[in-house]
Amino acid sequence: MEEYLITYKTIEYGEHTFKFDIRDSFFEKYDNADILSANLKVLVLLNKKKTHIEINFDINGIVSLACDRCLEAFDNTIKINQSIYIQFGDEGEDTDENLYFLPESEYEIDLSKFINELIVVNLPMRRVHPEDKNGNPTCPNNMLEYIKNIKNEGSIDPRWNELNKLRDGTS
Ligand SMILES: [Zn+2]
Repeated sequence: MEEYLITYKTIEYGEHTFKFDIRDSFFEKYDNADILSANLKVLVLLNKKKTHIEINFDINGIVSLACDRCLEAFDNTIKINQSIYIQFGDEGEDTDENLYFLPESEYEIDLSKFINELIVVNLPMRRVHPEDKNGNPTCPNNMLEYIKNIKNEGSIDPRWNELNKLRDGTS
């Protein structure tokens, strides 16, 4: 993760651009088991000012998540554009969730931490295969059948029992 470490004390004032390609291994390092695979492009625009650092993250691409309905992986589009602000010194009034404080003793900013956090908070609460234009889930068919069978098990069994009784002449 070294490429994500910015030694902000030595970089010049003004704008700096960083580009990252994020793949599965990024989330393995963060122990993020929710993300099964990833293909993301990240553009970071860092602006070092006299009083603070402003960092804009532009994150675009696909992560694959497990569908809550069928458990198979589906592609979830990620589109994030978010700025954060870093101030140095003791933690002040916590008025803005996008404002971070770094102790003067720190000399590095780990961009990967912010990138991971931004992606995690932007994952959907409801994780299912998207619906098609008729409003039907696009879960793979075999899994849908499987789920239907599980749901219907309780109601199907008694009917089969009745039929079996008729067939066996025990009714
Ligand atoms: Zn599904």
